Amino acid sequence: MDPLVAAIDQGTSSTRFLVFNAKTAELISHHQVEINQSFPKEGWVEEDPREIMQSVHECIERTCEKLCKLNIDVSNIKAVGVTNQRETTLVWDKDTGEPLYNAIVWLDLRTQSTVERLINKAPGRNKNHLRHKTGLPISTYFSAVKLRWLLDNVDEVHEAFLSQRAMFGTVDSWIIWCLTGGKNGGAHCTDVSNASRTMLFNIHTMDWDPELCRYFDIPMEILPSVRSSSEIYGWMKSGSLAGVPISGCLGDQSAALVGQMCFNEGQAKNTYGTGCFLLRNTGTKPVISDHGLLTTVAYKLGKDEPARYALEGSVAIAGAVVRWLKDNMGMVQSSSEIEKLAAAAGTSYGCYFVPAFSGLYAPYWEPSARGIICGLTQFTNRNHLAFAALEAVCFQTREILDAMNQDSGVPLTQLNVDGGMTSNRLLMQLQADILCIPVVRPTMSETTALGVAMAAGAAEGVGVWSLSPGQLPHVTSERYEPQINPEESEYRFARWKKAVQKAMNWET
Ligand code: ADP
Repeated sequence: MDPLVAAIDQGTSSTRFLVFNAKTAELISHHQVEINQSFPKEGWVEEDPREIMQSVHECIERTCEKLCKLNIDVSNIKAVGVTNQRETTLVWDKDTGEPLYNAIVWLDLRTQSTVERLINKAPGRNKNHLRHKTGLPISTYFSAVKLRWLLDNVDEVHEAFLSQRAMFGTVDSWIIWCLTGGKNGGAHCTDVSNASRTMLFNIHTMDWDPELCRYFDIPMEILPSVRSSSEIYGWMKSGSLAGVPISGCLGDQSAALVGQMCFNEGQAKNTYGTGCFLLRNTGTKPVISDHGLLTTVAYKLGKDEPARYALEGSVAIAGAVVRWLKDNMGMVQSSSEIEKLAAAAGTSYGCYFVPAFSGLYAPYWEPSARGIICGLTQFTNRNHLAFAALEAVCFQTREILDAMNQDSGVPLTQLNVDGGMTSNRLLMQLQADILCIPVVRPTMSETTALGVAMAAGAAEGVGVWSLSPGQLPHVTSERYEPQINPEESEYRFARWKKAVQKAMNWET
């Protein structure tokens, strides 16, 4: 039997555990559990760290049972990788092993006033004044301000910090620490791709930056150690996979870049999950954007390998708009039903939906923007609204793609895509129409998990997966060609941009 490598994919909406054949990249078995999000106040988004860990354990054990039913011995699993929703911020107690507050999810807006205060006192009120070190604008999105909020507002966190019991981590750190033994000696670490989303990490020196930590008043002793994305961090301590090394760690968007095998400078992918994230590999040099994109560490596949960087366009709300239509509006029973509604309309009938629920991310970085639906008439029905919601995802991607093409000077000629939303064929066709370039989707759409499985399998001391160019697995894909004329596409995009201006200035 070929060796197998597994991936824990802990996303904003769900947790998955997936097992791949390390020779063919074939997906052998998997299990998925949806994660509850709570919205305790307007703009707040939290998840329960205990529920996250329960879902991880459940996914592992259910998948192992499925493997047994397939007569596959779980001892063929040679390594486990962890990929995760990025920026989401946790603090836990290293003595009790218990979380000290809910995880503050990346979309959360509670730090908006802190962010405004920091920008107001920055030289020239410039939200980009830390960008030369971090690659990021000051925003509610990144972990530093969320951690600051926890230290300032949660007594348990403050007390644990004073008595040196507090540990900070993003979701990868929490999962790895718990799985490698937790309070009984778990590994407190993260990888460079996750660290680069905290705003405390210097993307040039590749380490926590004392000056940034002072700026946000974050004690450095609570931070995890920063490791490469492919090395052994520790071993599973319990359950069916006890003794298996955890040897891959990548933020979800980095993992998708690896899973799409975008190892060369200029290659790009767009992942449609809760949000939507377009990353373009810029090689071993960080490129600073002039058009509102982020500079981020893409991956570092081994202790002695160089880090690779990416330009990133982040859209906060993509699949989340579908979830909103389902959960808040009761328009559909399941996310996939949206396709039928949108197809029944076949057009938005002039309706534009800007889902700026958490402000607008790239390229605007405007935290005070709010969602709007405009262009309604007596004729508009829920099918048009469903279509407008899907079209919004495509327009947001178009804005990112335009920014990226301007930054690099070399336009992308096709877009590689993946993520939960890409099973929606209408969305894929709409995306090709709005971008005026082909959209290419791998038939096996679990690209994020595949990427971190590759990183885990290739780690020193594991060595069951080769990342050399000639030995990468062959993946089949489906392709969507643009079908409308570019003038029609431009016309709709121009109207979308007008709607965005309204969302940004809705109060004035
Ligand atoms: P994440 O990694 O952020 O947890 P996933 O890649 O699992 O996200 O994708 C889930 C998101 O995609 C959800 O927000 C869901 O509403 C949306 N989604 C899933 N299937 C469809 C579909 N067929 N059409 C539209 N949206 C979908």
